[in-house]
Amino acid sequence: MAVTSSLESNRVQELDQLLQLLHPRILSYVGSGEVGSAEYEQGTLGSYHEPQVLKEIFTGADGISEKGLQHDQESLMRNIDNVLKYSVNTWNPGFLDKLYASNNPIGVVGDIILSLLNTNSHVYTVSPVVSVIENYVGRKYAAMFYTNNKTTCGGLTFSGGLWSNITAMHMARSLRFPETKTKGNAGYRFAVFTSKHCHYSVEKAAILLGLGSDAVFKVVINADGTLNTQVLDETITKAVADGYTPLFINATAGTTVFGLYDDLTAVAAVAKKHQTWFHVDGSWGGNVVFSEKHRHRLNGCEFADSITTNPHKMLGVPNTCLFLLVPQVKHFQTANSLSAPYLFHGRDNDDENMDLADGTMGCGRRPDAFKFYLSWLYYGTAGLRLRVDHAYAIVHDFVTKISKIPGFQLVQAEPQCLQVCFYYIPQKFTSTNYTSITRYVSRELHRQGKYLMDFSPNPSDDKHGEFFRVVFNSPILTDTVVDDLIHSIVAAAENAPFTE
Ligand SMILES: *Cc1c(COP(=O)(O)O)cnc(C)c1O
Repeated sequence: MAVTSSLESNRVQELDQLLQLLHPRILSYVGSGEVGSAEYEQGTLGSYHEPQVLKEIFTGADGISEKGLQHDQESLMRNIDNVLKYSVNTWNPGFLDKLYASNNPIGVVGDIILSLLNTNSHVYTVSPVVSVIENYVGRKYAAMFYTNNKTTCGGLTFSGGLWSNITAMHMARSLRFPETKTKGNAGYRFAVFTSKHCHYSVEKAAILLGLGSDAVFKVVINADGTLNTQVLDETITKAVADGYTPLFINATAGTTVFGLYDDLTAVAAVAKKHQTWFHVDGSWGGNVVFSEKHRHRLNGCEFADSITTNPHKMLGVPNTCLFLLVPQVKHFQTANSLSAPYLFHGRDNDDENMDLADGTMGCGRRPDAFKFYLSWLYYGTAGLRLRVDHAYAIVHDFVTKISKIPGFQLVQAEPQCLQVCFYYIPQKFTSTNYTSITRYVSRELHRQGKYLMDFSPNPSDDKHGEFFRVVFNSPILTDTVVDDLIHSIVAAAENAPFTE
């Protein structure tokens, strides 16, 4: 008997219908977060709902059924409307909570094309175009950092900061101690060195690679919060005397809480002295490379053996899009391929690897590089530069304004990156620990659906409790938004129903 199927028999027509239903919804969703558009409403950021409320909406009677909703467009659209209604609308300028900001029109297009292609950039045969594009954009991006290795450098995407950082640590072990590829840690007690302010992914990477978190030495910081390189040098010397083999030094370009930049030139010198792999975690701050004005913060990055950097944060490429960059692109394969390493020895860079998964520890991969390519193609280098410079200008505007208003107190006098850490202390407040007021204001502005902004404890000194950490990363922010934000913080704090 013939096996026929009508399961997906009218795909063109079906897609057309769904897109027609979606089109106005998509535009009105974006419009509701677009200051100046007819649909704009300040409360549309989305206010906080307890998980129980959302469970009732999405898992109850309107949840997954035996029959499905394929032939019940009304219920399907009700469900999609609820997804939009109860999600955080990151197109709203009040979304100041995380290190990423809103998506943009070309970003949506990039995701649509990737979904349409539904390809997997592990081998060239199934993903020819996006593989060529990933190598192209990886090299072009890496060349901005590796100014001395412009023709040999390159980059690949990984699924998150942790996966870039762990791949870097693994490559350090694999390239410097090749026997570890077959023998595990091969009797070495490897050690990792990083600052107290580093991202937790460095410690997780050490755990995953079997080094253990005790092998991570968190070096003390200078008064300004950056890695103290003299103590770093002494810590490594002592660890060697204690029987450790130094494997990996992590410096951060843009720390997660404060946005601090470690002195990369000084760290590079220590790494060279101890012949240790020098990694820069630039997940957050690496993209200042696009700014003529601010790229000096990365001075010394050209000496790094690997750099993590993240177009989905500062550059507004849709989540997720994250690169690991290296000065010699062939190192990806030497370190990660299961094929005999001799295959790649002396390979010149003209034979680019086109089966990209061979340069990673993974198999299937989403072609995230394509979204970065499309944004860069669309805005040009000049457009990305403007984006970064604009964000710094907004930070400057906010800091200048709050410095003149009593009650505001900066945790750091001069922010280095795009987040501002500060307290607001109401006139009648009596306690010297400000956690209660910080949390209250943050929740109150979220409840009003106006602003979503994070708060954080101080990683080096928690005398005064938690402070606001507001991220000014979005190109749609203006001084009007800044003024309203300041006004909203002051109003919420001064009207708080408690004084300690
Ligand atoms: C955000 C961040 C990471 C993790 O990156 P994800 O893309 O969120 O996984 C790692 N390191 C630093 C310094 C970060 O700011």
